[in-house]
Amino acid sequence: MKKLQYERPLIQRLNVGLMNKFGMRTEYAPVTHIDDVSVKKLLKDFGSPLFVISEKTIRNTYKEVNRAFKTRYPKVQFAWSYKTNYINAVCNVFHQEGSWGEVVSGFEYQKAIQNGVPGNKVIFNGPDKTDEDLTAAIKNNSPIHIDHLDELYRLTELAEELKMRPNVAIRVNMDTGIYPIWDRFGFNYENGQAWDAINKIVLADKLELIGLHCHIGTFMLSPSAYGIAAGKMSDLALGIKRKFKRDIQYIDMGGGFASKNTLKGSYLQGADSNPNFDQFAEAITTAILNAGFGKDELPLLILETGRALIDEAGYLLGTVISNKRLSDGRRATILDFGVNVMFTSFWYDHKISPAQEFSNYTEDCVLYGPLCMNIDVIRENVTLPPLKKDDQVVVHNVGAYNMTQWMQFISLRPAVVMIDMQSKPHLIRKRETLAAIESSEVMPDYLAKFKL
Ligand SMILES: *Cc1c(COP(=O)(O)O)cnc(C)c1O
Repeated sequence: MKKLQYERPLIQRLNVGLMNKFGMRTEYAPVTHIDDVSVKKLLKDFGSPLFVISEKTIRNTYKEVNRAFKTRYPKVQFAWSYKTNYINAVCNVFHQEGSWGEVVSGFEYQKAIQNGVPGNKVIFNGPDKTDEDLTAAIKNNSPIHIDHLDELYRLTELAEELKMRPNVAIRVNMDTGIYPIWDRFGFNYENGQAWDAINKIVLADKLELIGLHCHIGTFMLSPSAYGIAAGKMSDLALGIKRKFKRDIQYIDMGGGFASKNTLKGSYLQGADSNPNFDQFAEAITTAILNAGFGKDELPLLILETGRALIDEAGYLLGTVISNKRLSDGRRATILDFGVNVMFTSFWYDHKISPAQEFSNYTEDCVLYGPLCMNIDVIRENVTLPPLKKDDQVVVHNVGAYNMTQWMQFISLRPAVVMIDMQSKPHLIRKRETLAAIESSEVMPDYLAKFKL
C-alpha cells in the first residue's frame, strides 16, 4: 500500500467583515482557473469581456438530470430548448448527449435542422409559426405543438393542401398552485379548452394527435407544481384513451426547473436552497406512474429543461475599468461588461469572484457596467475585496439566456469560448465587429455624403 504523504498543517486567516447567521460568505475565494484553464490567459487570448462555457459541466449536468429521470421512469427523452442558448456548439453538445431540439420560432427551427437534428426530433413550440414554418415542419414530420385555435384551423387547411397528416400535440395550461398562471399559451385544462381542442383534432381526423405538452413556468422553485401538472396531463391522456380508444405517444412536461442562481431578494443562496433534479423527477414521474396507465401504455416522458442544464456551465469574465466613491461614501467598481450582455442581472444576484489573489480586507460595493445608463448595475450590493483597475473578475451561472437575450447596445458583443473535455479552449462565437453590424445596414445614396 502506498504510504500517505505528509502534509504540513495550514493556518488560514478568516476574512474580516460581518458574519451573518450562516457564518462567513464563501464567495470571496479567488477563481483563477476554469476547468484548469487560466482566466488571465483566456482574457489575454480572446479579449475582455468574454463568455466561457465548460463542456465538462454541460455533460455532467446532463448526465445528472438524465439519471434522475431514467432511474425513475422507463421512457425519457430530453429536447434542448434552443432559446436558452442557441450557439450551435452548445446545441451540439446536447445533441451528442442524446437531446432532441425544442424550438419556438422559424429561425430556431432552421437552426436545429441545419445542426443536423432529424426533423421528427425537432419539437416546434410557440404561438408564432408562419405558413412557411408550418409547411416545413409538416414536410419534415416534426411534432408541432399547437398553441391556439387559429393555428389548429390553419394546420388543418395545410394538411389538406399538402395531402399530409401532420404530427401534432396541444399545449395545455393549467392551475398548478403557482400564480400568476401561465395561461397565455395553449389551451386551458380546467375550463375545457384543452378537451375542445382534442375533440376538434380527433374528430376532424386530418391531424395525428401524438402528444400533450405543457410548460408551466420558468425558474420554478416548487417540484409539487410539476406533480400537479403531470397528474392533469395524465388525466387528459387517459381520457383520450377512454373516449377515442387511442394512445398518445408522449407527455411533454416542458422546462422551467430552477438553476443554482440566487433570485434577487432571497435570503438563501440558490445553490443551497433551490430544488435539485431528483426532486423534480420524483414529483413528475410519481404522478404519471400513479395515474393508472397499463404497463405497456406508459407514454414517453419528454422534458425541455433549459436553464437548469446550462446556467452553471457559463461564466462571464471581465476587467475592472475604475473605482469611485459615490456621494454617500459607498465604493463603486466599474466593470467592462454591463446589463446589455448580462440581462439576467436584472433578476439574479449573480455570484462574482475576483480572478486573482487578494488580502483579507473586504468592503461593500456596487458593481456597475460601462453603459451610459443609470440602470447598468451588475450587483447593487456585494462584499468583495477592493478591486483595482485592470483586476479581473469571474461571474458565475450565466449560461442561460444571456447569450440569446444579449443586446448590441453601445458596445459590441463579446466572444464566446468553450473549454473542451481535455481543457482546450475553442472559440465558438467571434467577438462582434463593426463590419458585422453594418453589413445589414443600407445607406440611401442621397445620404452617403455630407459636408461639415
Ligand atoms: C423557454 C421554454 C423552455 C425552457 O425553459 P427553461 O426555463 O429554460 O427551462 C422549454 N419549453 C418551452 C415551450 C419554452 O418556451
